[in-house]
Amino acid sequence: MKIVLSAVIFTPDTIYKDHGIVFDKTIVTIAPNDELRAQYGNACEELGEGSVLMSGLINPHVHLEFSANRSTLTYGEFMPWLSSVITHRDELINNCDATCMQHAAQTMLNKGITAFGAVSSYGFDLEACASTPQKVVYFNELIGSDPLMADALYGDFQERLFASQEVRREGFHPSIAIHSPYSVHRVLIQKALQYAQAHKTRVTAHFMESLSERQWLDDNSGEFQPFFQNFLKQSIAANTAEEFLSYFNDVPTLFTHGVHANDEELLTLSQKGHTVIHCPISNRLLGNGVLDIERLDTQKIRWIVGTDGLSSNYTLDLFEEMKVALFIHPNQPLLPLAKQLWKSVTVDAAKALRLNCGSIAPNYDADILVVRVDYPITDQLPIHLLTQPHQIESIYIQGEKIK
Ligand SMILES: [Zn+2]
Repeated sequence: MKIVLSAVIFTPDTIYKDHGIVFDKTIVTIAPNDELRAQYGNACEELGEGSVLMSGLINPHVHLEFSANRSTLTYGEFMPWLSSVITHRDELINNCDATCMQHAAQTMLNKGITAFGAVSSYGFDLEACASTPQKVVYFNELIGSDPLMADALYGDFQERLFASQEVRREGFHPSIAIHSPYSVHRVLIQKALQYAQAHKTRVTAHFMESLSERQWLDDNSGEFQPFFQNFLKQSIAANTAEEFLSYFNDVPTLFTHGVHANDEELLTLSQKGHTVIHCPISNRLLGNGVLDIERLDTQKIRWIVGTDGLSSNYTLDLFEEMKVALFIHPNQPLLPLAKQLWKSVTVDAAKALRLNCGSIAPNYDADILVVRVDYPITDQLPIHLLTQPHQIESIYIQGEKIK
């Protein structure tokens, strides 16, 4: 059992001054430092001035297989970016070996990310995700809109899913990703979701990322039209948005982006208990606009912040992502938004991914960060942690000191 005494325990809602925690694999108790000193004496580890103890962060959406990208892909607008992904896909994938993906996972760990959701297109990231100390929700991605290829595509998906189920380590969760409404045939979606429902598998999907997607799904028009015509000889979208969402009615899902979702779709997301993953940097770099979080809050839709992959980001750092979110939503009151952002990468992300972490409270997994700050701690700490320099001094996952 470890007893760690800090200057503050930071949770999104409350800052506990001069408090410490007692933990094993899970958190046993939180108490004022004086009480812990009286009870445990020399067994207490004193972290001292400027120490902030908080929950490890959870990044719900990353594509590790694309971690080789630095300057290869074209940013600014969605279609040129997508075309550049298609052109350079093999090169990017080949340039990211196991070491490259392990490095990406390690980078996230160094930035305090103790759990992440990895969307896997090919299964090449399985080894990196299996061997990393973090909790991993491993989303095997299903893609393909050609009905003639349906069996082969499902077979390939199943093979990857089953291979991920062979990984037997605590904190690794084989799961399912449906690529998007425009890229997966309904038969495949329904089959995968039946499996997900029967096996209580976690599910994620991209949804309404770009205006092009909106136009294509609404009336088979826009920039996707020539793209699908030329590449896939397809003149009609694989699904309407409404049909697509209806397949997920019984499977609470993490929908990534949602920038161009309309009111009806948001109502469905709300009613069915889905979550939206907000990736502000990715959305900006690909010219997709800004998620209207006010609309989501009005509809009581849970939204959480994610980095997306290095194919549409320059870093896998939730501190950076939250900071950008803080500035990209200038009409939101600052301190409440900062608190909500912290909640989104801890408590709310854990709920959405069904992980027993994200809270500094008894019985939760002891996934903990010790951050050192060099300024007086006030009730504006949720803002200062995003804008002032800090150092992540220690990282614990399930009570074990990783750093
Ligand atoms: Zn993505």
